[in-house]
Amino acid sequence: MNKILIIEDEEKIARFVELELRHEGYDTAKAGDGRTGLDMAETGEYDLVVLDIMLPQLSGIEVLRRLRKSANAAAANVPVILLTARDAVTDKVTGLDMGANDYMTKPFAIEELLARIRAALRQVQAQNSVHVPADDGILRAGEIELNLPAHTVTYRGKAVDFTNREFILLRTLMENKNTAMTREKLLAAAWGYDYYGETNIVDVYVRYIRQKTGDGVIKTIRGVGYMVEE
Ligand code: CA
Repeated sequence: MNKILIIEDEEKIARFVELELRHEGYDTAKAGDGRTGLDMAETGEYDLVVLDIMLPQLSGIEVLRRLRKSANAAAANVPVILLTARDAVTDKVTGLDMGANDYMTKPFAIEELLARIRAALRQVQAQNSVHVPADDGILRAGEIELNLPAHTVTYRGKAVDFTNREFILLRTLMENKNTAMTREKLLAAAWGYDYYGETNIVDVYVRYIRQKTGDGVIKTIRGVGYMVEE
């Protein structure tokens, strides 16, 4: 049974989400502030965390930042779905950049949260079952090398810091060389979910990747999306 931690200080929302999750057969736990939530999440006992951003003691962003640095690998890699205030675009981008898997804008429909939870859990399963190519497990394009087993990136022989999301995005493009990939496809691959038109997130991440590895490797295919050429 999947165990989900809800970190949310608004008791009404937390209780409602908890009841719905239990109804769906999940095991749940709750924390009402950031510090308690972080302590609980760091145990690595949970399969997914629903994390509100506006929290007392430690903000959700800070909880996420610390969680991703956790020495406990299960905790550091746990899927996180953020709950954000309406129009808090900075929070969304910061949150995704820090390794949140997804976000929901309040107020949200519970069915949508449930769908995203299922998608995030599925994505973890898919990632765990991804096989590494039979050769050395290194994808190459231009002057970029992606080392899949080590999860590292080099550009012109130098190590480059990539966030998990950037890595998955570039990897998807490199695994599909010479194929124009739509933003929707890239979203589905890197975020495991269709964002209903919020495909500009892909553009933001492509920009990040280009800043780190030059403009040459990822080509913009007008009206479609992006492509890495052989
Ligand atoms: Ca709150």
